[in-house]
Amino acid sequence: MKGIMKTAVMTGIGKMAFEERPIPQPKDDEALVKIEYVGVCGSDLHYYESGAIGNYVVKPPFVLGHECGGVVVEVGKNVTNVKPGDRVALEPGKTCGHCEFCRTGRYNLCPDVIFFATPPVDGVFQEYVAHEAALCFPLPENVSTMEGALIEPLAVGFHAANQAQAGPGQTAVVLGAGCIGLVTMLALHARGVRNVIVTDVMDARLQKAKELGAQAVVNASQEDTTEAIMRLTQGKGADVVIETAGTQQTSRQAVEMAKKGAVIVFVGYTKTGDVTLPMSLALDKELTFRTIFRYRHIYPMAIEAVASGAINLKGIVTNLFDFDDIQEAMDKSAHDKANIVKSVIRITGKN
Ligand SMILES: [Zn+2]
Ligand SMILES: [Zn+2]
Repeated sequence: MKGIMKTAVMTGIGKMAFEERPIPQPKDDEALVKIEYVGVCGSDLHYYESGAIGNYVVKPPFVLGHECGGVVVEVGKNVTNVKPGDRVALEPGKTCGHCEFCRTGRYNLCPDVIFFATPPVDGVFQEYVAHEAALCFPLPENVSTMEGALIEPLAVGFHAANQAQAGPGQTAVVLGAGCIGLVTMLALHARGVRNVIVTDVMDARLQKAKELGAQAVVNASQEDTTEAIMRLTQGKGADVVIETAGTQQTSRQAVEMAKKGAVIVFVGYTKTGDVTLPMSLALDKELTFRTIFRYRHIYPMAIEAVASGAINLKGIVTNLFDFDDIQEAMDKSAHDKANIVKSVIRITGKN
C-alpha cells in the first residue's frame, strides 16, 4: 500500500507533534496493520516526562506507544497465519530466534530484542505499522481491537500470576492498583484465585480494583498495610504477594505479609532500582522470590481468557482520547495519575 500516514512524535520532554510519514511496506514475513487503538503505558509516560528510562534515552523525534490492536490490510508473500481483514493484537517484541534464550523458550530475555517504543526503536502512535506476522495474533469476534491493544499489559499480569504458580484456594495480595496491578488481579482471577486483596494509596484506583472484583482493598495511606492484610487473612498472611508498586515500602511489606512458604513476585521497578529487604524474616519464612521481565508465550492464553469472559479487560480503561488530542492525552495521563488509571488512544478505531 502506498501513501502517507499520520504519525505522532515526541519532539522533546512533554511535547508532542504530528508528522507525515510514508506508510511502511511489509517485508515477506510481515503484515501491514492499520492501527485502531493504542494504550498509554507507564513507560510511555516516563519517556514523555523525563526523556529516559535507565540507559534507554529518547532522541527526538521519537514515536511512543507499544500496546496496540488493529486490522491487517496487507501481508508479505510468506505470511500464512493472518490475512487482510483479520483483527489482531500485536506482540511488540521481535526477537532474534537463535540465541540461547530464544532457543530455550525464554525469548523475552533475548539480548537482541527489538521492542516498540524502546529507544531507538519507534513505537506505534501512528496509523500503520509493518510487523512480523508471527507476532500478530488474530482476535475472536467477541474481542475488540481496543481489548486487543490491552492484551499487552494483560500479558504482563499473566506472566506475574504464572510465575507465582497461583491457583484456587490461595489468598493473593497485589501491591499497587495501577494498570499492571489491576491486570495482575484479573490474571489471578482467571487462574482461579478468588481471594485477591489489592492495596494502593489512591482511592480512585482502589475503587477500580473493587469494581473489577477485588475481594478487599487496603488504602495504605490510611492504615498499616501489613496489619490490615494479617487481619483480612485471620493472622495467616498471603500465599502469594505480587509487588507492582515499585517502592521500598511495598517491597518490605511484601515480605512482612507473606505466609510461611509463600511466593513473592517482584514486578515494579523502584525509582533508584534498589530496595532493602528484611532478609532474616524472608529466610525464617522460607520465601520464594521471583521476578518478571515482560512476558513470553502469553498472547494466545490472554486472548482466550478475554474471549471466554473470564476477564473484563476493557473495564480497566478510564479514559479514551482521539488521536488528534494526543498532547492532551499524554499531559492528562502524566499529571492526573490519581484519577486516570488507564488511557487509550483511538488512532483509526470507529466506536
Ligand atoms: Zn505497556
Ligand atoms: Zn534471541
